[in-house]
Amino acid sequence: MGKKTIRDINIVNKKILVRVDYNVSLFGGMKLGDDLRIRQTIPTIRYLLKKNCSVLLCSHLGDPRGKKKLHLSLRPVQQHLEKILDRKIEMIDDYITGSGVELVKKVHSGSLSLLENIRFYPGEERNEVRFARQLSRLAQIYVNDAFGVCHRIHASTVGITHFLPAVAGLLLEKEIKIINRTIAHPKRPFVVIIGGAKAKTKIPVIKSLMKKADVFLIDGGVGDTFLKAAGYEIGKSIVDLEMVAEARKILKLAKKTKTKILLADDLAIGTPETQDYIGIVPVDEIPKNMEALDIGPKTEVKFGNWIAKAKTIIWNGPMGVFEKEEFARGTNFIYQAIAANRDSLSIVGGGETLSALPKEEYLETIDHISTGGGAMLEFIEKGTLPAIEALEDK
Ligand code: ADP
Ligand code: MG
Repeated sequence: MGKKTIRDINIVNKKILVRVDYNVSLFGGMKLGDDLRIRQTIPTIRYLLKKNCSVLLCSHLGDPRGKKKLHLSLRPVQQHLEKILDRKIEMIDDYITGSGVELVKKVHSGSLSLLENIRFYPGEERNEVRFARQLSRLAQIYVNDAFGVCHRIHASTVGITHFLPAVAGLLLEKEIKIINRTIAHPKRPFVVIIGGAKAKTKIPVIKSLMKKADVFLIDGGVGDTFLKAAGYEIGKSIVDLEMVAEARKILKLAKKTKTKILLADDLAIGTPETQDYIGIVPVDEIPKNMEALDIGPKTEVKFGNWIAKAKTIIWNGPMGVFEKEEFARGTNFIYQAIAANRDSLSIVGGGETLSALPKEEYLETIDHISTGGGAMLEFIEKGTLPAIEALEDK
């Protein structure tokens, strides 16, 4: 990697602000994917504590829009991290102009603190220079270990790098290395699996990845948009009408370049409002008043055959509305198919994708669990991200 990491500079005894991505879903309890996000930052934290640094962790949580919102406090994360590390972590509030400023001054070497939700301040998302400068005064060195937010140009990801020596943490380094290695010289067949709801962000990535991957397995809401583009009647399924033309272009281009874009042959359908399970139908028989909510068994076989043959696999986006048990089958199937293929290099990422991962026991068979969803796809598409560019060159 062309950027400096915490291994490349002298950090002994320094006060370090570490941007992490602890944006977890706290409603209904911490999920496996959320816990992974937290756990993946532990190597950096341990490394810095070993060097006798005082560590200030900084993250956002949810979307408080620049206001203090108690239900978006990072306190549950603090408690969770205390349990994992089996040590005390000080929670610091009002650290820009309030009482927290003094608290930060007093932290001692080897201490670990968590700054309260950075998005409580309007200057964060606006990337205000003044705010970034104030934030930078808390520490001597800035470390970015928040791959999941590197596509955002905010004060704590980009602005602050103008005021402090700025380097990558171990998680960020690992994300960049593994994803770059996978994309640069992929073993073939290279299979990309895309699902989920955000057609607008995912369809452009499919286009740019067509230069690299051999096979695309597409379903979820993104797949519905492709089905519509391919001329199917998709009833009440979610579709991004603005992206249909782009999807059609991609299907055409795929024919020309002999890239395989595989869509569902059969689907699990349900009622649109209440999402009650109705049954499985072939793709050309989706009733007008029904919504496609998962892939069907024939599609599982088709997708499963490619996953079994794949040497490189990237997966982002659940195949269906996995939040409902009746429509979680396709997503679980994809996960187990990837876990069963021991000869492949696999990368799985995405907020909902990670929380859909059903069983911890399979996790070690996935080579890299990316903490980024949108960030992972944008990194794959562009080869870099704004907050990575902002770090010091080696
Ligand atoms: P990720 O966070 O993993 O990148 P997205 O945010 O794009 O994924 O989408 C996740 C959401 O997509 C899930 O909440 C899931 O319920 C929804 N979803 C998946 N398939 C469908 C579908 N066929 N119809 C409607 N919603 C779907
Ligand atoms: Mg999501």
